[in-house]
Amino acid sequence: MRTPRKVLLALSALLCPQFSWGQSNPVANQEARAIFQQLIEINTTDSVGNVTKAAEAMAKRMLEAGFPQSDVLVAGPNERKNNLVVRYRGTGKRAAILFIGHLDVVEARRQDWSMDPFQFIEADGYFYGRGTRDMKAGDAILVETFMRLKREGYQPDRDLILALTADEEGGEFNGIDWLLKEHRSWIEAQYCINLDGGEFEKLRGQRILAGLQASEKVYADFQFETRNPGGHSSVPGAENAIYELAAALTKLEKFAFPVHINDVTRGYFLQSAALTAGQLSADLRGAAKQPPDPAAIQRLSASPYYNSLLRTTCVATMLAGGHAANALPQMARATVNCRIFPGEDPEEVRKTLERVANDPGVKVTMIVDKTSDGRAIPVVTVPPSPLIPEVMTGYADTVATMWPGLPVVPTMSTGASDGKYLRAAGIPTFGIACMFFDMEDDRSHGKDERVNAQDFYDGVEFGYRLVKKLSGGTTSG
Ligand SMILES: [Zn+2]
Repeated sequence: MRTPRKVLLALSALLCPQFSWGQSNPVANQEARAIFQQLIEINTTDSVGNVTKAAEAMAKRMLEAGFPQSDVLVAGPNERKNNLVVRYRGTGKRAAILFIGHLDVVEARRQDWSMDPFQFIEADGYFYGRGTRDMKAGDAILVETFMRLKREGYQPDRDLILALTADEEGGEFNGIDWLLKEHRSWIEAQYCINLDGGEFEKLRGQRILAGLQASEKVYADFQFETRNPGGHSSVPGAENAIYELAAALTKLEKFAFPVHINDVTRGYFLQSAALTAGQLSADLRGAAKQPPDPAAIQRLSASPYYNSLLRTTCVATMLAGGHAANALPQMARATVNCRIFPGEDPEEVRKTLERVANDPGVKVTMIVDKTSDGRAIPVVTVPPSPLIPEVMTGYADTVATMWPGLPVVPTMSTGASDGKYLRAAGIPTFGIACMFFDMEDDRSHGKDERVNAQDFYDGVEFGYRLVKKLSGGTTSG
């Protein structure tokens, strides 16, 4: 089944005008696509998936490309949650760079999707499957880059370390946390490039900017819980745990946290204003004003993405309650997921949620995550990474070889990533996604997740050029 498809793809690479000749390399594209497909079709969810299988499959490819066994490590604290760490030896002129991506994906149920989420499907110029966007495209770009450079006999002026890890999306065995704790020497580096952030933004087909994620919102889960004695459902009274919880959630739905703007987001709004037109451009400029223009903030808040850049957001994500169809519920519980603006105190956010619920019967508590050895993971604000000049120029120069004139903009990520562990451990971390994503077509964690095929191929070329640029080599562009 696969071979004829590969042949077809090679042919289409020769014939199809969508492959932009000066930019990408058809052989690399084909291999990267095969890696991407392999990763999507290995289920790496926390519930039934196996990250170790994906790590081993990538290790096998690395060995085939010429990396010695001693530099290709597969290890972890749980048999299903092993991580891959590959060291590409350089001349040692400069300190190492760490490149990271996570191999695990968010759960996906067949009945929620239009197709099998764990089958790699190409249709209408898109690749579909759970993890296409978050973030197996990035993993495939990194694996392909390391293999391609190795086969070309490329000699970097510093060690390049690749770590593809487990449990970024949840689960007890976060790979970056484990590596920092147990094998820090494997991943010790001057700085880290994380492909799980720093989006290259496209809006309705137009390339807007190349992001450099230097800051990120802080992830925290809270629980709303109501309890009462319950009773027989044939004689319902005024008290009902489910209605009480639902009323609190309805108040949360209508609530918006106050607007916060920092230097990174203000710079981002100004840069984006220069690149867009009409009302949107004016509103972005209005948001960057001190103080910001309330009418502009109101219009921007209608866009989920801008809204998330402007404030802390909290949203109900899970529900549980009741114990029998014919009994009044004794308990109802909701998980409320918050993305806290950097600098805001998580305890203050909890108190705000309590005020919003405005009901002493609704208990609002923070859900504390634990590591595999039982340590509570504190919810802390992580400071932005200092912008290292060689990263900024290396990145900007690489962008210029492929998309001249495209601005490189430091950004704050609305989601949280493994960058937080590294930043907290003193390794400056920069999110650089290496490929474009459409701002209006973000299906990460959602139904029918997809990425644009040409954007992926451009990413394969970009990743290759960037890694070379940051390690003393010249780009081929
Ligand atoms: Zn991710």
